[in-house]
Amino acid sequence: MRKVRVQTQGVEYRTVARVVSLENLSAQWRPELRFLVRAADARAVTKIAQLRSAGLANLILLIPNRDAAGQWQAETVLETGGTLIDGDVVAVADHMNHAHVLFRYTDQHHTVFLTNRCNSYCLMCSQPPTKHDDSWLANEAVQVANHMASSPHTLGFSGGEPLLLGEHLRRVLDTFAHHHPNTRYDVLSNGRLLADPSDAEHLLNGLSERMTWMVPLYGHADFLHDFVVQSPGAFEETLAGLLNLHRFGQAIQLRIVLIRPVLENLAGLCEFIGRNLPFVREVALMACEPIGFALANPELTDVDLRDWSAELSHGFRTLKRAKVPAILMNAPLCALPQTLWPYAHKSISDWKRTFAEDCATCTVKAECAGLFSWHRQGKHAMKIQKIEGIINV
Ligand code: SF4
Repeated sequence: MRKVRVQTQGVEYRTVARVVSLENLSAQWRPELRFLVRAADARAVTKIAQLRSAGLANLILLIPNRDAAGQWQAETVLETGGTLIDGDVVAVADHMNHAHVLFRYTDQHHTVFLTNRCNSYCLMCSQPPTKHDDSWLANEAVQVANHMASSPHTLGFSGGEPLLLGEHLRRVLDTFAHHHPNTRYDVLSNGRLLADPSDAEHLLNGLSERMTWMVPLYGHADFLHDFVVQSPGAFEETLAGLLNLHRFGQAIQLRIVLIRPVLENLAGLCEFIGRNLPFVREVALMACEPIGFALANPELTDVDLRDWSAELSHGFRTLKRAKVPAILMNAPLCALPQTLWPYAHKSISDWKRTFAEDCATCTVKAECAGLFSWHRQGKHAMKIQKIEGIINV
């Protein structure tokens, strides 16, 4: 989640608001929303003060420098960097020295964070779970749906484990589907809490058909999957959850993070998927994000995919034979055999992606997923090697 440095005055606990220019305010104003109204000069501040006096109490002043506030006494956000743009949905509060950008209008990838709690404890978790009560995030997510001025093509829900929200998850999903009916939704979930048929029915019955459930599976036997997610019984629960998702007509993307114990058994896993889970929409094989628990378990998670080309190619052939589509995510093209390049997606979110120095003159940079911005050249097994000459991707 992007953070933007701000100073606030008089803003109550995590107020969610939409950034808007004064010129566009009249077209966008609704009484149930909050607005951060941009004011660059005294004339604009006076105008916003008049609107507030006339009863538009849901306006917060957004100024680029302290002097611009003039005589304004009400809620104020000072942002000197000029990073916030019209259409952004942010959370601000006096106790924070930054704004959380909950929806960035111009981004290609959008994610709404639902909880930091989780019932698994994966070896390579990029967002290590915590136990504290963050159930307020469900209400904040509903606020985000209300405040978004535009509907993106796709929006993801992540955690932690979103199913831990219980009935509040359905409220969040229904709110987004209601306000943004043309958006496609990706729900990142381990699926375990869908093992119970009545819980699954409660959540899934009548749910929008524009959802895709992204469920990780790390082995074709319980001891393999349960080891990676560090949770006994997870394999059985995940399989039952997948079957219930299928029962209610939900689209599923299986996610396989390519760490050592998974790569060592990739052939068996792909065979298992082809035989037992042929109904999934696709399988995503993903390079591991070098952050969070992955940094604590480098012997299991830090791999150079070039050393596993044969296993990856074999896995793709197996899935293809079973007619299960497969894609590659988060992997730089130079780490993959060229035969797999057509399956590689530019999947790293804009704000997380970077390139190495060598990439500047690489022939395939425009098609490459690049690197996570926390990738440290020379510190990880994955070697970056620019591609030269004319290559068709
Ligand atoms: S050198 Fe850089 S741009 Fe080229 S394939 Fe590797 S990571 Fe991608």
